[in-house]
Amino acid sequence: MEFAATLPARLRQIGRAAVDAVLPPRCLACGATVGEPDALCGRCWSAMTFFVAPWCARCGLPFPYPMEEGAVCADCARGEASWDRARAVMRYDKHSRRLVLGLKYDRTELANALGAWMRRAGGEILDGADLIVPVPLHWTRLLSRRYNQAGLLAHAIHAAGGPPVAPDWLIRRRRTPSQGRLGPLARARNVRGAFALRPGRDVKGKRLVIVDDVLTTGATVEECARVLRREGAAFVGVLTLARALRVGG
Ligand SMILES: [Zn+2]
Ligand SMILES: [Zn+2]
Repeated sequence: MEFAATLPARLRQIGRAAVDAVLPPRCLACGATVGEPDALCGRCWSAMTFFVAPWCARCGLPFPYPMEEGAVCADCARGEASWDRARAVMRYDKHSRRLVLGLKYDRTELANALGAWMRRAGGEILDGADLIVPVPLHWTRLLSRRYNQAGLLAHAIHAAGGPPVAPDWLIRRRRTPSQGRLGPLARARNVRGAFALRPGRDVKGKRLVIVDDVLTTGATVEECARVLRREGAAFVGVLTLARALRVGG
């Protein structure tokens, strides 16, 4: 009995050892050989900018100097966002872009490690949340891309001890042109009205965390948060892997 219970674990260990013997673990970002799976090499680790406190209590923007507990940044002080709190693992720059683009274009094996990082960085907003809501792709894009990277991250966050995932509660009603070259105002216009709550789903009084891979201007998560808020969500958090900062910011 005991043997039967431990057999799968033993087989996994043996399988892991066999895979490691043939294919030593690789750095998630650059592919250099590393000592353990799901890790970055020393160079990539020090090149990435991981966000650390002190930071804005609301949006998680790191402050360059110590601030009193609960301090918020200038943007958050204006209080225009529809979400309550946001956190991200790292700055979106040329280094973290390798991970973001990798996950988007077929390196689905990255999701577990990145999701575990997000679980840690987002602890403050995930603890006590009812559901994780990934930013959806339009169904035509899902067909051509086969998976939604935000959905993969959401499931990985759950697997790392986060709340359950509501993969299809938010829907993308129309296909929006790529945001890549658009400025902040154009991005906001681009996604206005693009999302909706799936009919029959009820978010009233629920604590929700929107998950996406990157936050650039925030137009997409703002639009998602607006929908969830309008439908009665009690709390809307935002958790992304990476977040762009203004140059010099
Ligand atoms: Zn590396
Ligand atoms: Zn802020």
